[in-house]
Amino acid sequence: MAIVQVTVSDTLDELRRERALDPLTGLLNRRGFEEFATVRLQAPHAWPISLMVVDIDHFKKVNDTHGHLAGDAVLKTFGQLMLATARQVDVCGRLGGEEFLILMPNCDLEGARIVAERLRTSVGTAVFDGLPKEWRVTASVGIAEIRRGEALLELIARADEALYEAKRSGRDRVNAYRQAIAGV
Ligand code: GH3
Ligand code: MG
Ligand code: MG
Repeated sequence: MAIVQVTVSDTLDELRRERALDPLTGLLNRRGFEEFATVRLQAPHAWPISLMVVDIDHFKKVNDTHGHLAGDAVLKTFGQLMLATARQVDVCGRLGGEEFLILMPNCDLEGARIVAERLRTSVGTAVFDGLPKEWRVTASVGIAEIRRGEALLELIARADEALYEAKRSGRDRVNAYRQAIAGV
């Protein structure tokens, strides 16, 4: 958490910083993520750049079984696991609900797969406050590598499409965007 917040406070004034952060997890919110990721995309020597979109599996069941507060605690811990997995140059954000994302400069699709698998494993083996210790939380991940001239939102959309396919094919897995999925 500290890594992102320090970077933010170095760059933004207090008000902008507050607007950029998600109060529950301390990660960048959608707006903050877009702002920071756009800066990272334009940085020299940032290529290749990859992005992952992560969605907790069956999260509704956590809320329904253990309550909304336990759900919140899972989201917080999940954010910490993300930060522990990411490098300092990576940009971590909460897109909303139980959906998160990481922009990874200087990382190709295969590198992104390794990071995503590491995150998936750490989530899948973690014990969460407010949940029975045998309760396993899993996550599905979509990854995509940026194309020349591609805007951030298009990259997110492709990673999201790969995520959808990961969900569709059984969850608790990492799936890379492939052109065939979109029929392009
Ligand atoms: P899937 O595996 O398909 O992703 O299923 P899911 O249950 O994770 O997804 P679904 O979209 O059905 O449910 C997401 C739930 O996340 C519903 C919503 O109430 C809950 N949620 C969204 N934001 C928060 C939050 O800030 N705190 C808590 N506790 N729950 C939240
Ligand atoms: Mg979900
Ligand atoms: Mg979701």
